Amino acid sequence: MDPRDNLSSMENNAISKVFADVAVLLQAKGENVFKVRAHSKASDQIKSLPYSIADIADDTDRLREIPGFGDAIVEKTQELVRTGRLGLLERLLEELPDGVLELVQIPGIGPKTAVTAAQQLGISTFEHLAASIESGEFQSLPRISKKGAAQILRHVNMRIEVGDRIGLGPATALAERVIVELLEASPEIEMIEVAGSIRRGAELVGDINFVAASRNRWPVTAAFRVLSMVHQDLTHIDGVGGRDRATARFADSNGVEYSIFVTAPEYFESAMFYATGSIAHGKRFDELADENESLIFGPEGFFEIIDGIQVEFESEEQIYKRFNLNFIPPEMREDSGEIEVASDRDFSGIITLNDIRGDLHSHTNWSDGRYPMEEMVKAAAGRNLEYLAITDHSPSATVANGLKPDMLLAHNNAVRELEESAGVRLLTGTEMDIKPDGSLDYSDELLADLDIVIASIHSGMDQDEATMTQRVIDAMESPHVDVICHLTARLMERRAPVMMDVEAILEAAVRTGTVMEINASPDRLDLSSDHVRLGVDLGVIFAVSTDSHRTWQFENMSYGVRTAIRGWVESNQVINAFHYAELVAFLTLPKSERYAFNKSRG
Ligand SMILES: [Zn+2]
Ligand SMILES: [Zn+2]
Repeated sequence: MDPRDNLSSMENNAISKVFADVAVLLQAKGENVFKVRAHSKASDQIKSLPYSIADIADDTDRLREIPGFGDAIVEKTQELVRTGRLGLLERLLEELPDGVLELVQIPGIGPKTAVTAAQQLGISTFEHLAASIESGEFQSLPRISKKGAAQILRHVNMRIEVGDRIGLGPATALAERVIVELLEASPEIEMIEVAGSIRRGAELVGDINFVAASRNRWPVTAAFRVLSMVHQDLTHIDGVGGRDRATARFADSNGVEYSIFVTAPEYFESAMFYATGSIAHGKRFDELADENESLIFGPEGFFEIIDGIQVEFESEEQIYKRFNLNFIPPEMREDSGEIEVASDRDFSGIITLNDIRGDLHSHTNWSDGRYPMEEMVKAAAGRNLEYLAITDHSPSATVANGLKPDMLLAHNNAVRELEESAGVRLLTGTEMDIKPDGSLDYSDELLADLDIVIASIHSGMDQDEATMTQRVIDAMESPHVDVICHLTARLMERRAPVMMDVEAILEAAVRTGTVMEINASPDRLDLSSDHVRLGVDLGVIFAVSTDSHRTWQFENMSYGVRTAIRGWVESNQVINAFHYAELVAFLTLPKSERYAFNKSRG
């Protein structure tokens, strides 16, 4: 991706968030619905602009061309871009009790409830909300049922557990922005990479760590400390930094912390290895180094005990080799058994981004995608995908503009027609809702006509564990349901997973011949890597798909692949690592024969 895209979309995101906040607060205040909608619509529009709105803020006519941008929205956009603040938001925040914006992030809490909870019970934090539900106090508010409160508690507890960490997607975007700016400011840098939990592909990131290599280290740390995103320089707090170690650390205005370690180029690989972690993985190396009594291991790298000389490694492969281990991909370095097996097992079969040949989950403006089918297909072809399944929503997904049966038939025709000139093989398909009672959203005749059926839960998410588990298994029993997508319906940092027996579902996948999706959208990463690992142990076959609603979201495939790596998935267990002909052969077989077919591929 062009790093500039990140810069502009970040600005757009920040501006979009202000309008979304205003909409929430206006609604909380009981303002008229049109005014509320105008602001939330503006928020949506800004978020999905392919260019930076700040760049055109002075051009009133161009702003007016954006759908929904009347005089009031145009003026507010300009105020925001020019001054970095919005008077209306500040006034609303002053008028309303503290905590409203926090509380409305919890599914099940609308703006009105947030205001009542804040005003009557003084609730302004997630911790207070959780305590209030546990004591039964919260349930005394109007419109709050016992069952509703229990659901809210699940989401609040998830938020409390997330704490100050941010999702892998936003964290990666922030890291890329730092690298671009630092390279510009500091030409001394020979190499720079992001390490830590981002490099390991962890779904939540606490802080963002970089390693850089330079012959001239101090100007690099100096430049790092004055980057535009620095809010508070933390370099000399907690003994970080100093004369001996070229390190620096800062926090941005959202409290996200960044650190850098600068080393000489010959020790870059060792420093990357140390800074990538995890701490537990590194600790095991410390023990191995100790056992083998020849090396000392620390942030700077490895030193020979005998003469204290620092060891140069040209690659991380060499580091593992020195310890008689096969190379372990960064995503697997969690001390979850990888070191124990790495002397015998080589991980070259673990999936990589290069193994991916197609994408089996995408949306167009036939349902809730942003772009016409032609443009999505062009984007997929441009990324050299061999095949793409176009899986718009089914009728029950009313908010997502699901396709009625006759529209599905027209959709199939459009896909087949487009394939002739697409430059990428296309599969007709649907992302079909699994209805709350476990029944399917299209007739068997319609489903039989599709190249691929992926099925998922978009409604009735409050069901108890037994009902939810059975609901998914019922769908798996259908001979037409090829893939179950985003199993737990969680949204990163926003919505807790539904209650279900994931292990029973993964076992049912193997039994029924159903494929499990690893949804690559950084908003979902669902299956989570823990669930993926469980699936690997049970012999599950996967698909890694982006669920793209925008042309640029095909880029998200890397997040899904890295989640798969964290779950120890081999490429031969992933159907969109198949060639097109193999994929078609797989999907043409009765489900009961598919898992055996994959084994026979060798
Ligand atoms: Zn979905
Ligand atoms: Zn989808």
